[in-house]
Amino acid sequence: MTLSNHAHLTHYINGQWTPGHGTKTSNNVNPANTTQVLGTAALGTTQDLDDAVAAAKAAFPSWRAVPAPKRGAIIKKAGLLLEERMDAFSRALSLEQGKLVAESRGEIQRAINVLDFIAGEGRRLNGETVPSELPNTFTYTARAPLGVVGVVTPWNFPVAIPVWKIAPALLCGNAVVFKPASLTPWTASLIMQLFHDAGLPKGVLNLVFGGGSTVGQRLVTHPDVVALSFTGSNEVGTRLYADAAPMLKKVQCEMGGKNPVIVLEDADLDLAAVGTVQGAFGSTGQRCTATSRAIVVDAVADAFVERVVHHAKAIKVGDPFKEGVLMGPAVDEGQFQTNLRYVAIGKEEGARLVYGGERPSDAEFQNGYFMTPAVFDHVKPGSRLAQEEVFGPVLSIIRVKDWDAAVEVANGVKFGLTSSVYTNNVSKVFQYADRIETGMLHVNSPTVGGEAHLPFGGAKATGVGQREMGKTAVDFFSEWRTVYVDYTGQKRVGNLY
Ligand code: NAP
Ligand code: MG
Repeated sequence: MTLSNHAHLTHYINGQWTPGHGTKTSNNVNPANTTQVLGTAALGTTQDLDDAVAAAKAAFPSWRAVPAPKRGAIIKKAGLLLEERMDAFSRALSLEQGKLVAESRGEIQRAINVLDFIAGEGRRLNGETVPSELPNTFTYTARAPLGVVGVVTPWNFPVAIPVWKIAPALLCGNAVVFKPASLTPWTASLIMQLFHDAGLPKGVLNLVFGGGSTVGQRLVTHPDVVALSFTGSNEVGTRLYADAAPMLKKVQCEMGGKNPVIVLEDADLDLAAVGTVQGAFGSTGQRCTATSRAIVVDAVADAFVERVVHHAKAIKVGDPFKEGVLMGPAVDEGQFQTNLRYVAIGKEEGARLVYGGERPSDAEFQNGYFMTPAVFDHVKPGSRLAQEEVFGPVLSIIRVKDWDAAVEVANGVKFGLTSSVYTNNVSKVFQYADRIETGMLHVNSPTVGGEAHLPFGGAKATGVGQREMGKTAVDFFSEWRTVYVDYTGQKRVGNLY
């Protein structure tokens, strides 16, 4: 592998690229042009996973002994290297995942920001000192690493998500085994190279390619892996959570969303429409934070829908490297078929397709997973289209009579990742902040985005375990020690309790 291309990608175990024990490989395909095979990746076996865990376990004692600011310095170096490699990373990301180059650069910038922030946490990995009830006693708390932790990630943010898990895990002194999404092996390898070049000692970070049900499952149930940080679907996350429970592993799962935008009668409708379209169709709707429901009060619904359709029509679909293109392809055949299926479901359920949802007929689109952005109006709150995560460029507009109905509909799904309200009424803004059941809330801006130094994650069925990013990231990857030091120097007099 180089920064500009890859032939065959292998596992990264104990500081070395290794073919492992498997004989099978997977093709890494460009979703904008499926005739372009970028290269292949090894498909690992459970033996490869065991080797990676063994390497991590062996590396852990000396890594945890490295002072936290020194661990932070390696993470800082990785961030500086990533800045230098921005062009190469973004090109690889757009080629194997299909997002626009500008979107890739945005994702990589997020990873740089995370590395920048987490590196500094090495100098702030603090506990508390508090007075003891007893004389001549010093009590304090300190953070300790967990051990070998497993990181399992999806294909939609294949740079930022692994980095926002791996960086705090390493900073806290853990050793990591990383199982990336099968669809995005190149960027996963580039991340390993980044930490390698930043000077991370061998064995501290390991990567094994392979299927979720084989290598992934082994990581989940391996007795030496004490914690799991997962981002992906509810289906896989629920199973992972259940499988890890009998082994009493610490688990963090960030899963699906069905993120609403509420548009009230006093909203700036132009702003609301642009924000909704950006949130719904940016990154081809393949963001966990994508806007999938616009809940609009009747009074402004017609005017809002007209504006949304106007902006959706302006979205030029096509190759992510082409000038003027605003939306790339679905990531693979499976996701593409899911998108088309939900368009059909919406029609069957009686929602009104007011724009898009079609595969463009021109020859240039036939080798990629392209669909025009779909806008449905008059979607019923209880319908499948309004309840289930699509993870593609499909927006459901739900009309409601007033604010209370809007809140009820917004909260009437199992998910709770992110949301937004468009209003200029300050009372409604704070009522929204009190009443909406999501982990992240936006006012007069799209549902998407998140900053490196702020917690990221969802409520209800979207998330279990601590929030990611921000200072809370270290809460998951460390555990508290409570220390009592008795400096009386002799047997205490009286009752200890
Ligand atoms: P996915 O199908 O759940 O896969 C996620 C990861 O789990 C992949 O690495 C997958 O490996 C692995 N996996 C599959 N089966 C496994 C098993 N039995 N044991 C252990 N690992 C297993 O999700 P996806 O399709 O990649 O990503 C889309 C989903 O991610 C959406 O639901 C989206 O909402 C969610 N997401 C959530 C957030 C958030 O922060 N809340 C952020 C981004 C994405 P393979 O690739 O080999 O199948
Ligand atoms: Mg999947």
